[in-house]
Amino acid sequence: GNRSLLESQAARESNARSYPRRLPLAIRSAEGIHVTDMDGKTYYDCLAGAGTLALGHNHPAVIDAIRAALDAKLPLHTLDITTPVKEAFVDELFASLPAEFADDARIHFCAPTGADAIEAAVKLAKTITGRSGVFSFHGGYHGSTHATMALSGTLHQKGEIAGLMPDVHFLPYPYAYRCPFGVGGDDCQRLSARYLRGLLADPESGVRPPAALIVEVVQGEGGAIPAPVEWLREIRRITAEHGILMIVDEVQTGFGRTGKLFAFEHAGIVPDILVLSKAIGGSLPLSVLVYRKEFDRWKPGAHIGTFRGNQLAMAAGLASLRHLRSEDIPAQAAARGAQMMARFEALQREVPEIGDVRGRGLMIGVEIVDDSGALDALGQPLANPQLATAIQRKCFQKGLIVELGGRHGAVVRFLPPLIVSAADVDAIADIFAAAVREACA
Ligand code: PMP
Repeated sequence: GNRSLLESQAARESNARSYPRRLPLAIRSAEGIHVTDMDGKTYYDCLAGAGTLALGHNHPAVIDAIRAALDAKLPLHTLDITTPVKEAFVDELFASLPAEFADDARIHFCAPTGADAIEAAVKLAKTITGRSGVFSFHGGYHGSTHATMALSGTLHQKGEIAGLMPDVHFLPYPYAYRCPFGVGGDDCQRLSARYLRGLLADPESGVRPPAALIVEVVQGEGGAIPAPVEWLREIRRITAEHGILMIVDEVQTGFGRTGKLFAFEHAGIVPDILVLSKAIGGSLPLSVLVYRKEFDRWKPGAHIGTFRGNQLAMAAGLASLRHLRSEDIPAQAAARGAQMMARFEALQREVPEIGDVRGRGLMIGVEIVDDSGALDALGQPLANPQLATAIQRKCFQKGLIVELGGRHGAVVRFLPPLIVSAADVDAIADIFAAAVREACA
């Protein structure tokens, strides 16, 4: 059962393992939005491979594509040598991107993690501009390698590692609920953008335009915080004015998660470098950069890595992307997301410990606070990670897997597969409401 596998895991796997600590189960099988553990208990999976499983577990379209690829004696590993599967995958990906971006785009396949692709994006931006340095945002998350950890504003473990990549300048993200400028609503985003303008305009600031600015359109690990579209447009203008390349990290937001195929489309902007991973491989490991042709100033071999040709991931990714587009799954994600948000907002009116409900599409965060009226050093409601943890545990007991995130670990995050039905959303919201009421009682 679960217990013996968990004990064995604890005895043999590194102390750095993370999810099993909060989600004490061993998964035997999975289908759609459900996983089943070794004891036969079934859960709604609102973690979905940390946002990877756009079509849920073992979607027939994806499984059929993998099976067909195996039957066709596809070479499973090709380094970055091309194949008809890769050709078809690139065709489909380029067709799914806005034409103004894709018409003149180049793609680079990375060793298949988000972090490797972020590393590649930063290297490319430095190569193009000849500059060093990166602007990044408080609360951003970009990976766990040295450089991507240095770029992340979320990780309390950072302090434990000496000598991370220097030259990252952190900027305030427009997180209206906990605005660093102490103002709410649209004033927060206006001040955030103004801060950046001021930094670059003021010769006394000592800050020179860096090679790149890296941004998540909706911060994921940072607590499901959507950036307002006006703010994104202003950041796009500022970076263009200063020759700073705008790297849009859609590792988590990409492929329909936010209600559009790509989250930057909400703002009608075009990135300089787009980073994609997670859902791109239809459950299997894959990551790429897409950027405008004029930026292709790399020399051969500038960013290599052995596992950049996983053909099964391309076959699965192709099938997944075709399905996402042909069934207009992003529109479904928008509708189900709105439904879920409405349920959580209704709960918020009843439960004072729910400080904020926010999100875009099916990337939703519920921020848990102290209801005693106590305020933190900035005069904002006290985050309540203990209560958030208790809620997560209650959800788990009731058969719902959710993850925590956010700057204080006090945000309950929902990332269900995008194929979740209206009835599933109601069932998930019912379980969550019961868990919240019990944990707050
Ligand atoms: N960027 C974002 C926005 C992410 O959410 C993640 C993973 N959670 C990464 C980068 C890193 O991806 P990976 O874990 O595959 O290295």
